[in-house]
Amino acid sequence: MVGSLSRRIVVLCVILSLVLALLAGLLLDASAQMRASLGWVTHSSQVLEVSTRTLRHLQAAESGQRGFLLTQNLDFATSVADEVAAARRDADTLVQLTSDNPLQNERARQVQSLILQRTQVLTETGRLARAGDFSAARDHVASGKGRYLMMLVNARTNDLLEAERALAAERMQTVQARLDNIRWLVVFGTPIAVILITFMATALIRRIRRPVDEMMAVMGQLGAGDRSARVTAHMDSSEFERLAQGYNEMADELETAVADQLVSADQLHHVNAELSRNADVLRERGEVIELLGGMAHRMQAARTDEELAAIIRVFVPRVLPDIPGALFAHNNSRNLLIPIAAWGGIEVEAAGFAPDQCWALRRGQSHFVIDQGSDIVCAHIGHDTDHYHCEPLLAGGEVIGVLYLKGVVEAENRFRLTVLTENIASALVNHRLQRGLREQTIRDPLTGLFNRRYMEETLALEIARTLRTGSPLSLVMCDVDHFKRFNDEFGHEAGDAVLHAVAAEMRARFRDGDVVCRFGGEEFTIIAPGSSAAVLAERVEVVRQAISELTVHQGGRMLGLTTMSFGIATWEDTMERDGSTLIKAADAALYRAKREGRNRVVLDGRAESLAA
Ligand code: GH3
Ligand code: MG
Ligand code: MG
Repeated sequence: MVGSLSRRIVVLCVILSLVLALLAGLLLDASAQMRASLGWVTHSSQVLEVSTRTLRHLQAAESGQRGFLLTQNLDFATSVADEVAAARRDADTLVQLTSDNPLQNERARQVQSLILQRTQVLTETGRLARAGDFSAARDHVASGKGRYLMMLVNARTNDLLEAERALAAERMQTVQARLDNIRWLVVFGTPIAVILITFMATALIRRIRRPVDEMMAVMGQLGAGDRSARVTAHMDSSEFERLAQGYNEMADELETAVADQLVSADQLHHVNAELSRNADVLRERGEVIELLGGMAHRMQAARTDEELAAIIRVFVPRVLPDIPGALFAHNNSRNLLIPIAAWGGIEVEAAGFAPDQCWALRRGQSHFVIDQGSDIVCAHIGHDTDHYHCEPLLAGGEVIGVLYLKGVVEAENRFRLTVLTENIASALVNHRLQRGLREQTIRDPLTGLFNRRYMEETLALEIARTLRTGSPLSLVMCDVDHFKRFNDEFGHEAGDAVLHAVAAEMRARFRDGDVVCRFGGEEFTIIAPGSSAAVLAERVEVVRQAISELTVHQGGRMLGLTTMSFGIATWEDTMERDGSTLIKAADAALYRAKREGRNRVVLDGRAESLAA
């Protein structure tokens, strides 16, 4: 059980107060006794003084009496009366002063009585002398009664004085003894009080300093970073015990809080690192998306397959650096994957490959070989390749193409690959749609030839090119002979079949650079850049011949032979630049061919015609 420090302080203070109170009480008592003793000493000295003064007054009265009797001078008589009165007064005072002491009072009363008698004798002597009877007065003195009384007065007064002196000496001794007491009290009491105070202060300081030092040391350890520092020493008092306990609890909480904080800081650090990583990934993805956005934007604006290929060759190596590859687009009509673009220095078969030669297209998901023998190799891949990646391009379940990469796509590049393939797939779909739309606007749906609008646009462009380069430009206008008959005999659909067959023949027979168009109805126009009328006439003749040998079937019927008439004109600088004059010239030649019997080729301006 640990004692209370405050209770100890209270007890020590009470002891100290009691000691000091005792000391003060003793000193007060001693000083009171001193004062009383001094009072008695003063009293004795008063008694002594009054006694001697009484004697002096009496002796002065005797001297005055003698002077009066010798000189008979009345002044002496007056002084005698004064001294007598003073002696009697002092005798009375003496009796009063000794009233506390019966023995001395008795002696004082005897002295008073003797003084009264002696002064009566003096008064009588004086009365005789003042009456002029000096001899009687002298006789009265000579009787010796006065001297006898004076002797008694002296004797009694001496007794009183001696007794009073003895009393005074005794009282002085008492004073001395009490002074000694006070001195001893001071001499011993003060050191005792000082020792007591010192002892108590030392005990208290030790009881306070030891736990304080202990706690300061522990706090120092805590401050230096030792969070396990605790107060374990005995604290001597309940107050410090509580303080230590409180401190230990606080240190416990602090340790827990710091541990929690460290855990939180660690978690925060991890979360920050994760966030930073995610931010990097997001930034990189943002860059990829921005890059692919740019690519998609350009692909949307691309008009031709060449432009599309150029865009792919620029952007794909930027999205997937250091991986060579090629993009194959699916050709629906031929059901082949035709290469659009290749990059990174690889060469691909221009003929393409069938969809079932690629495992990515067959399975509808990524197919890759990381090491030789790790997975089955697609048939369209050369045998020297031991690692590659095929990514299918799909849209709405339809095969759009395949992205072939000669390399391994690491996990961190998968996102790039996914976004890239999505972008390319949608761009290819878009491109295909655009091309389809454009085809619709420039093609004649029945024959598949270019329509009249396209013909007019192309003719204007070719005229411009001719003006620029000086190369020749010729135009053919042709018309199916007696076409109306097919309609009339076999019906409109039969007419359509004839138109379709004639168009296919012309498309197959004319050069690649020649633009075969349906002008309208059963009339056709062929723009032949770089061809003079004569050279073109030979080619047209071949076509005419082929058509004349054409037999068209429709609905299980044979529709009979078809012939066509052709008019050819060549561009001349005098003609309108929009092509209208050239068309009119060719049309005029065609008109002539009709007039001259049909199934023939007529050149404008020259009456030369080559009949079959
Ligand atoms: P000619 O030898 O003088 O050219 O005689 P033709 O009968 O060919 O010429 P004509 O101008 O008298 O008749 C052309 C016919 O072609 C009239 C029209 O009904 C028909 N025609 C025009 N466009 C089409 C088409 O798209 N399909 C079919 N089936 N017939 C068409
Ligand atoms: Mg016609
Ligand atoms: Mg016709």
